[in-house]
Amino acid sequence: MENSKQMRTWLDDMKLDHPLVIAGPCSAETEEQVLQIANELKDTDVNYFRAGIWKPRTRPGMFEGVGALGLKWLQKVKAETGMKTCTEVANAAHVKLALEHDIDLLWIGARSTVSPFIMQEIADALEGTDKIVLVKNPVNPDLALWLGGIERLHSAGIKNLGAIHRGFSTYEKTKYRNIPEWQLAIEFQNKFPDLPLINDPSHITGNREMIFDVSQTALDLNFDGLMIETHFDPENAWSDAAQQVTPTKLIQIMRDLKIRKESDPEAAYNSELSGLRAQIDVLDNQLIDMLGKRMKVSDSIGALKKQKNVAVLQSNRWNAILGNMILEGESKGLSEEFVLKMFKAIHQESINHQEKIINS
Ligand code: PEP
Ligand code: MN
Repeated sequence: MENSKQMRTWLDDMKLDHPLVIAGPCSAETEEQVLQIANELKDTDVNYFRAGIWKPRTRPGMFEGVGALGLKWLQKVKAETGMKTCTEVANAAHVKLALEHDIDLLWIGARSTVSPFIMQEIADALEGTDKIVLVKNPVNPDLALWLGGIERLHSAGIKNLGAIHRGFSTYEKTKYRNIPEWQLAIEFQNKFPDLPLINDPSHITGNREMIFDVSQTALDLNFDGLMIETHFDPENAWSDAAQQVTPTKLIQIMRDLKIRKESDPEAAYNSELSGLRAQIDVLDNQLIDMLGKRMKVSDSIGALKKQKNVAVLQSNRWNAILGNMILEGESKGLSEEFVLKMFKAIHQESINHQEKIINS
């Protein structure tokens, strides 16, 4: 994996000795709430204070953000705590207001990245700005759409760019709110190795209990920073209550995360090794997940065979599968011997599943 950064970026210029941390509430709710959270985060490793002002909600009737009024609160945060500020922008009017209120970093939300029209509108409104602009991945796992959004900003002369990986929505219910699809993020890093890539474990997990683990995986995969939603009273937050952590918890998370330094050769080796191991872990989990899904389909076939009173083992079908898989395997550099062994084991597990169903 090519992952050496060639160009200096806004992030290098910050000369941090730890990954970038963006924290603050999902939504700005009141002036007091914003200032209290900012004060609790000010003397920590947090680099940027976030708060959503315009909230993209899936269905109408939910809290849609306080609007431009919140920008004044963010200005107060900067004046009172010295912290840099950031918020989401979703159209040209938002951009104009955010720039007028000297917001330091703007991000584009997952529901905007999906739309080339919106991305172009935002790029035109931002033309030539020296503010930092981060693009969240689109809600659907489409790498080209994500890259396309960034290219539109780049073409508008925006130099200080970066990306945020916040996971992808699926119809299927999983333990994640938005599944990480780490492979896609790794592919993204390979396409744009010089672009800072931030992980957003809050929107990936949807659940504060899982934030630490996802953050650690991201750091092991060489992400450049984290964006973590933080609120002094998470349970009563006006949006995304289940995924926010308290400032105290955030400080604990930052303390416990293992950060791999890349300065000396030994550390560089360790860093590369743990990055590769994190990739193996992701793939192994996908393998197990796929095998589980395959067995579920096999169970349904078992149920059908039971109805029709058909034998479990059907050798024509099995020989056809094996032949195809040996050819597929060859094209991926897998030996015939390995593919045979693996599929025999999978087939045996399938037969066991189906027999259990037929005999039940
Ligand atoms: C957010 O950061 O609060 C947000 C709305 O994120 P996303 O665009 O990832 O859903
Ligand atoms: Mn949120």
